[in-house]
Amino acid sequence: MSRSAPGAGPLQLQVGDLLTQPGRRRAVGGEQVLEDLSVGVGGIAGGALDLQLTLEAQAGRIMVSGTVRAAWELECRRCLGPVRVPVEPDLSEVFEESPTEGETFLLDGELVDLAPMLREVVLLTLPLAPLCESTCRGPAEGAYYGLEEAGGGADPAPGRDPRWAALDDFRPDEA
Ligand SMILES: [Zn+2]
Repeated sequence: MSRSAPGAGPLQLQVGDLLTQPGRRRAVGGEQVLEDLSVGVGGIAGGALDLQLTLEAQAGRIMVSGTVRAAWELECRRCLGPVRVPVEPDLSEVFEESPTEGETFLLDGELVDLAPMLREVVLLTLPLAPLCESTCRGPAEGAYYGLEEAGGGADPAPGRDPRWAALDDFRPDEA
């Protein structure tokens, strides 16, 4: 009676019971740590994620929905001082046997690994231009003019969302 496979982490979940009982739900909650989210400047504080998720099987797929709480530790874009930005993204994701890249995640037999999904969801909340406070004037006058008004005008970087660049770095086992 092993509830977790050898080597399985706390975010790798056996869902065989859900698959055989459609409509049954399982809550997944509490704090989990994804250490690679805390690496370097601009990381999640401690890599810590507070999960409030529900898993449910529908038509052979596993639906995961709920909320994740985390906090970014970034630099103020004006004064370069530390900024802590709490985020609380809602998520509604699908795990299936043949996932669609960028849309759904892998259901590997009776196993789902929440970690790659959580990385994506959290990284998409990365604030692009955080401020320590809205009135921050920065350390020296004029040093960052030009960046300040970008939010009100045209997108300064059309095309690929720059947040995806950060996401690339968090896919260590891309095949
Ligand atoms: Zn500042």
